[in-house]
Amino acid sequence: QVRVRFAPSPTGNLHVGGARTALFNYLFARSKGGKFILRIEDTDLDRSTKESEEAVLRDLSWLGLGWDEGPGVGGKYGPYRQSERNAIYKQYADELLQSGHVYRCFCTNEELEKMKEIAKLKQLPPAYTGKWANATDEEVQEELSKGTAYTYRFRVPKEGNLKINDLIRGEVCWNLDTLGDFVIMRSNGQPVYNFCVTVDDALMAISHVIRAEEHLPNTLRQALIYRALGFSMPYFAHVSLILAPDRSKLSKRHGATSVGQFREMGYLPQAMVNYLALLGWGDGTENEFFTLEQLVQKFTIERVNKSGAIFDMTKLRWMNGLHVRSLPTMELVKLIGDRWKSSDILTVSEGHIVEEAFQLLKDGIELITDSDKPLLSLLSYPLYATLTSPECKPVLDDGLPEVAARLLAALDSGELLGALEEGQTGWQKWVKSFGKLLKRKGKSLFMPLRVLLTGKLHGPDMGSTVLLLYKAGKSGAVAPQVE
Ligand code: GLU
Repeated sequence: QVRVRFAPSPTGNLHVGGARTALFNYLFARSKGGKFILRIEDTDLDRSTKESEEAVLRDLSWLGLGWDEGPGVGGKYGPYRQSERNAIYKQYADELLQSGHVYRCFCTNEELEKMKEIAKLKQLPPAYTGKWANATDEEVQEELSKGTAYTYRFRVPKEGNLKINDLIRGEVCWNLDTLGDFVIMRSNGQPVYNFCVTVDDALMAISHVIRAEEHLPNTLRQALIYRALGFSMPYFAHVSLILAPDRSKLSKRHGATSVGQFREMGYLPQAMVNYLALLGWGDGTENEFFTLEQLVQKFTIERVNKSGAIFDMTKLRWMNGLHVRSLPTMELVKLIGDRWKSSDILTVSEGHIVEEAFQLLKDGIELITDSDKPLLSLLSYPLYATLTSPECKPVLDDGLPEVAARLLAALDSGELLGALEEGQTGWQKWVKSFGKLLKRKGKSLFMPLRVLLTGKLHGPDMGSTVLLLYKAGKSGAVAPQVE
């Protein structure tokens, strides 16, 4: 059975690289009828935080990448947090000690530093050359009885090579003679990253390890540990880096890189998933629009590209627009309404005011947030308050005397407010008779009216805008700081 895992270290937010690794694992599992496992790699106690773990879980859920085993779900291979598995690591480290694949190393830090310096002088790789690889039982017992601190060091074969057949990169081969014996457990009993990953992947019956290219050097050490423990090796697939447009490694200095930031900016999870899938994968056709379900149908690891993929913000934004337009209208209204409410632009998140504002502003929206500013600017003219306040006359008198005078008269008589109460038909009827009265039409009527009623020279359909402003102000849907 196919079993894959996503194994984030909870030391920060989920960034797009991690999200893409999670996605490829998810797609592979789902397309093969296998299991997708989430494992939290929190062995670095200083840098791991609970908040970060929660954020990673939240972001994965938001993307729709649910896991079959892991935190919050359980499973028979748990616990799924490395910090809860120390006894297991100790047991396997001791097994390696028994079988001679690992030895106790009593070297002090000074001794190790010296080895490095000498290696540097001789221009050799900094491999361990200390005596403990070949110490006698008596020497070891003597140090143990003195209580000297020691690490568990893995004995690397001094010659030969190790090959893996990477599902993306093809054959990868390492010479063993330069690697040097490495530590798998520190003197404080903390197991080292590469060791934990190997033990976990083996015990969790992981069949395929799909992860970022930067882990390739770890694979060598992990493969040696698999072999020493007598575990069968999983298939490996190392996915290439995500690059910035200048082809350097994508990082914070290029702008938003975490999934949470994109959510805040108004991106849809559907678009994120679609775009991330295209970073290094394609179905071989021109088609670029995929839902998560379609990706599950089409995904194959063979089509994952070996070269780095460039992260293109403009394309992501465009793709978000495609997904926005493919959403059912009411779903989009709900998303945008919630957004307006949570950013304190409106006090309500649904109802006719939200729907009318949406109709007015929906054109050309690519991000869920794209209508925030236009709505704010629309609502920033307090029409209702203006029309009903005692200072109304001087405001309307200013500048456009003729239209303003008539507008004031229409206000005084209650005619305009009455028309607004009747909605679109009332408004249109009123504008028509108002134009007749003034002997104005077209631009010469609408420009001054628009300025007087909306406070702006340009904008979306005037009638709808005026009605929205009127209703929103009257019902209290406009959040106070807007006015
Ligand atoms: N915990 C590692 C990371 O966050 C992933 C290790 C792995 O996938 O083997 O990069």
